[in-house]
Amino acid sequence: MTTSRREFLKLGAAASAALLPRFAFAQGAAPRVVVVGGGFAGASCARALRQADPKITVTLVEANATFTACPFSNAVIGGLRAIEAQQFTYERIAADGITIARGIANAVDAQARTVTLADGVRLPYDRLVLAPGIDIRWGALPGYDEAAAATLPHAWRAGEQTLLLRRQLEAMDDGGLVVISAPANPFRCPPGPYERASLIAYYLKTRKPKSKVIVLDAKDAFSKQRLFLQAWSELYPGLLEWVPLSKGGNVTSVDAATRTLVTDFGRHQPKVANVIPPQKAGRIADVAGVADRSGWCPIDAVTFESKLQPRIHVIGDAAIAGAMPKSAFAANSQAKTCAAAVAMLLTGAVPSSPKLINTCYSLIAPDYGISVAGVYQPSASGLLADVPGSGGVSPVEAPRAVRTAEAVLAEAWFRTITGEVFG
Ligand SMILES: Cc1cc2nc3c(=O)[nH]c(=O)nc-3n(C[C@H](O)[C@H](O)[C@H](O)COP(=O)(O)OP(=O)(O)OC[C@H]3O[C@@H](n4cnc5c(N)ncnc54)[C@H](O)[C@@H]3O)c2cc1C
Repeated sequence: MTTSRREFLKLGAAASAALLPRFAFAQGAAPRVVVVGGGFAGASCARALRQADPKITVTLVEANATFTACPFSNAVIGGLRAIEAQQFTYERIAADGITIARGIANAVDAQARTVTLADGVRLPYDRLVLAPGIDIRWGALPGYDEAAAATLPHAWRAGEQTLLLRRQLEAMDDGGLVVISAPANPFRCPPGPYERASLIAYYLKTRKPKSKVIVLDAKDAFSKQRLFLQAWSELYPGLLEWVPLSKGGNVTSVDAATRTLVTDFGRHQPKVANVIPPQKAGRIADVAGVADRSGWCPIDAVTFESKLQPRIHVIGDAAIAGAMPKSAFAANSQAKTCAAAVAMLLTGAVPSSPKLINTCYSLIAPDYGISVAGVYQPSASGLLADVPGSGGVSPVEAPRAVRTAEAVLAEAWFRTITGEVFG
């Protein structure tokens, strides 16, 4: 571990400790906070609010009874893991005294301060936290609509789409071509497409070695690029090819009927096509009026309160979080910061400037892991920016034992974060 990463860990521990004070509310009615979205951001925020002060009445609105986690879902696609290992329920969260409102929030009245669910139930709030994750921008990539996703899975929200892509890989004959199209920034999980390419390449190498995987990329650079490229040339020579934007990687349209991906430079007709399309904040953000024209949600970097609607906070993938990537760890870190700020705002106090952390592992093979870590704070521009000198990535030159150790740490990371959020 480099010195900067040790600094990161110290800062992270200090930041977490500072972010969870206990607040005493003035006498009067218990403040009500509604959190929409029970993923890494929303579920974490609901719990942190209860920890900040058990007097806050917290309602967590979630569409599904079971949450299926995206981190490690690439290992399901690569045949290394069962989908059940990705699934979590809300029982422990309910046991914390949080009301779970099962349903889809489909309207927000920012004036009356209410959220309405699809079944008509109306929930009043003093503060609302929106944590809806992402939606696909259907149609932004010509030819890619909801029907096309049944043939060309995105698998960018975990669950049925993950299993569909897995089944397509299993059904493919040895010698088949797999194409992954990766979108332009910003999108959920910047290293995700490249981890996916790696674990599909691992599956092909061990089970269908005459096959090949190509990544068609709308970018010329990506997260942990040097580490990925180095590992690919070591582990998957001739089996995994990355085509950047400047070499014709940008997919401009697709045709699901013929399983064709079109770029400025040509056409690809693979046996399996994984189209990772452009994305935006989950739909409720738009409905609530907190998403801007980019499709994402501008927020105050101290409180995560929307810049477009008062008393509505946005966290996780849906938020514009400056230098912070759209990751589960970032979502969890933002959730704790936001919960502390909301608890303070409910008492009339002024939240202080936070430090937030992110760490993200990627598997390149079951025993080969790499990571990136960062620390962030509000900057003069009002956006979250890197704390100078903090964070870092795995060393480029490292013995194989370091990669093996990071693969073990990746598993531990998943157990820890899902334990904290759902356990
Ligand atoms: C393949 C892949 C691999 C990844 N790997 C990693 C990794 O290794 N490490 C990492 O840190 N991150 C990883 N990520 C990113 C991570 O999954 C996301 O950043 C994280 O899930 C964001 O959390 P969130 O709470 O914002 O959204 P989500 O976790 O998607 O949660 C959103 C929740 O809101 C609910 N919801 C949405 N709208 C409504 C509504 N209107 N009413 C009720 N409920 C609603 C949804 O049902 C969902 O449960 C990966 C992502 C992918 C796709």
